[in-house]
Amino acid sequence: MKILILGSGGREHALAWAVKRSPRVTEVVCAPGNGGMAEIARCVPVNLKDVAAMVALVEAEQPALTIVGPELPLSLGIVDELQRRGQRVFGPTRAGAMLESSKGFAKRFLQRHKIPTANYAVCTTVAEIERAIDLFHPPIVVKADGLHAGKGVIICDSRHAAIETAEELLSGRLLGEKESHIIFEEFLTGDEISFLCLSDGKNVLPLVPAQDHKRIGEGDAGPNTGGMGVYSTDQMLEPAMTEWLLRHIAEPTVRGMAEEGTPFVGVLYCGLMMTPRGPEVLEFNARFGDPETQAILLRLESDLVDVLEACVDGTLAETNLRWSAGASACVVASSAGYPGSYKTGLPITGLADAERVPGVQVFHAGSSRTAEGEILTGGGRVLGVTAAAPTLEEALARAYEAMEKIHFDGIYYRRDIGHRALKK
Ligand code: AMP
Repeated sequence: MKILILGSGGREHALAWAVKRSPRVTEVVCAPGNGGMAEIARCVPVNLKDVAAMVALVEAEQPALTIVGPELPLSLGIVDELQRRGQRVFGPTRAGAMLESSKGFAKRFLQRHKIPTANYAVCTTVAEIERAIDLFHPPIVVKADGLHAGKGVIICDSRHAAIETAEELLSGRLLGEKESHIIFEEFLTGDEISFLCLSDGKNVLPLVPAQDHKRIGEGDAGPNTGGMGVYSTDQMLEPAMTEWLLRHIAEPTVRGMAEEGTPFVGVLYCGLMMTPRGPEVLEFNARFGDPETQAILLRLESDLVDVLEACVDGTLAETNLRWSAGASACVVASSAGYPGSYKTGLPITGLADAERVPGVQVFHAGSSRTAEGEILTGGGRVLGVTAAAPTLEEALARAYEAMEKIHFDGIYYRRDIGHRALKK
């Protein structure tokens, strides 16, 4: 069977690598793909903001299954459009994706369904902002409603700063575009954890947990990025806690979406804070995380295509997932200057040597491949060097051993991925 994957990052490279391992798959097409995906699949150009172009591509290719990687095409309704034309597609509809694309929708949904989350207020005007602010004590979290690739969350240390930030979000001064809604939120403390589940619209199946490192600098310092590394271990969540998260967060979310007439099919990514009063939802994503997926899929022993088809077909209740015991880690190599401006088009060497380290896969986040087969840098985050091993220490040692074999001008990576887990 033929599989088509929409996207061009490390997550999509990991998805392509995982579906390629399925004995049922004869061809993988990536749109637009990247230099790493070009080595294992056919890449065809497409604009991920252009629903009509994506639909035309899928109709021309006629894959047995389309997998949508990033949030933008989901929020634009690519799944609705493909379903309407009888195409099989993995991912939520536009209404399902609102759990991610509108934080205001997500907060109200959580409240309606009594799912634990921080106290909040949604405001649309300056008058509402001024009325709501008295209910919050600093630090106050101010969030833009829409998709902003991690830039829409600002933590303010006074009411005055929170009002100013909220007004700047509404007026468009802060993010360039006007926000119709802003959210004030109570500041939560604790360990963060990413709890990803598959859903077929009725049933929920958890993936192994993961923990990412968002900041550019070691010790989790400096500006936010798309993610500089991630790790996954069996010890991160006790079985009783997994059960609790399913019963009180993931299952009520999927049930609530179905009751509201917008069943959620796809990956429900619950960003959680393990607060002293219990786990609370910080955010939902409506798709596989990046770079969480790289570390998670390296541990998956089941056939990913069977699993994703079970979601599309509504048969997840009959599905079990097999995982390699132990741990995995993904260390991201970025371009000098990232998350600010950076150069692209720089030659990358040592990739084959890196992949000879046992248990290692290098997933490309931003790269291109020339006609001669040379791999060049093509983004801020360039590579995710990912390793699986029986322990986290070994997985990290393998990832770093492989990373040392890779070179491009200005390569940067954090040397402390997993430090919090190792300390414990
Ligand atoms: P979000 O996109 O909503 O997950 O927010 C991005 C990051 O901001 C999270 O991963 C947290 O580190 C932080 N954050 C968001 N909401 C809160 C909150 N209510 N309290 C503390 N930190 C938060």
